[in-house]
Amino acid sequence: MTEQLLCSFLKKSMQQSYTSKLPDIGVNIFSTMSALAQQYKAVNLAQGFPDFAPSEELIRLVHDYMLKGFNQYAPLAGVRPLVVNLAEKTEKLYGLSYDPDTEITITCGATEACYTALTSILHEDDEVIIPEPCFDVYLPAIQLSKAKAVFVPLTLPDFSYDWELIRSKVTPRTKLIIINSPHNPTGSILTAKDVEQLQLLVEAYPGLYVLSDEVYEHIVFDGNKHISISGNPVLKERAFIIGSFGKTYHVTGWRLGFCLAPAYMMKEFKKVHQYNTFSPVAPMQFAVADFMKKTDEYESLPAFFQNKRDLFLRHIKESKFDVIPASGTYFQMLSYKNISDENDLDFAARLTREFGLASIPVSVFYNDKTDHKLLRFCIAKKEETLLKAAHILCKI
Ligand code: GLN
Repeated sequence: MTEQLLCSFLKKSMQQSYTSKLPDIGVNIFSTMSALAQQYKAVNLAQGFPDFAPSEELIRLVHDYMLKGFNQYAPLAGVRPLVVNLAEKTEKLYGLSYDPDTEITITCGATEACYTALTSILHEDDEVIIPEPCFDVYLPAIQLSKAKAVFVPLTLPDFSYDWELIRSKVTPRTKLIIINSPHNPTGSILTAKDVEQLQLLVEAYPGLYVLSDEVYEHIVFDGNKHISISGNPVLKERAFIIGSFGKTYHVTGWRLGFCLAPAYMMKEFKKVHQYNTFSPVAPMQFAVADFMKKTDEYESLPAFFQNKRDLFLRHIKESKFDVIPASGTYFQMLSYKNISDENDLDFAARLTREFGLASIPVSVFYNDKTDHKLLRFCIAKKEETLLKAAHILCKI
């Protein structure tokens, strides 16, 4: 055997014995659609991020903190003013208190918070109930923990929770239920009745915990109010609450999120966080701590985003797409069942290539890729972007 042949043989056998821990996971749809949008110079309403600038004052604060020398590691839990201000804000908005010393951690985005929460609580063979469609961030962490996801469909047309069905899925191995309100991708929100049902479930099963993904807490429309699990005295004692400064301050690239949880859960959360990221970028944390004192910044968000949603909907009124009403988030789902019977992946790709508009096909949010002929559009965009998108949709 020549040296070259031997090398290629060794390389091949090395690759064969290198076993994937996530064999079914590829590049996610958000990166895929953003790349496709770029390739075809399409209007990008796919990946959920604003195309407008954040506050200049917030950026100046980061700059000032960098110049003032706040450039070394932040403490494990996050910088003190941010943790304290977040505790105060949470109590003011939702009524119950979290101890800044033991019950709050600032994370590298809500994605890290989800990963850390899931890997800190799950043991091999634990079961996790996930209402779906659902965001893609939970499943890989469940699989890496050798736990099992149990998917339960939300009920159409309004994507509401079927609590009887959820109860029927609880087994002695069920460790966690994941709640996401306001909900990505559907825009539905949790009602007081849902919270009552969740409380009954948790009370009936002492070994059941909750992960409540509330990253769109400030984006709720039509006079509705966000109901945080942190405001329920029973659920709070058994729940991770996950939030995002990136969504609230239009800085998704800063990767700044947080987790609230009772001390006994947070203790384990911090062990994973410590050896995962340790802490997010310090000057950003100081800047957000100052900026969040301006309460009008988040108080004005419902109207700010509702105006965008309404503008988009007004301008697609004459199109053939059907609107699935959204009560929150920066997403709006549209049905194309009057237009085509193509599957949603093909339709979304064709919309990008031929018409120059990128969206997210909703089947990717289902484990079994259920196709309801729905596309998700991000409305966190400048007025001109939304008008361009609406113009394209009316031509189809
Ligand atoms: N949360 C955003 C969305 O749903 C971005 C997701 C991502 O890029 N991983 O589009």
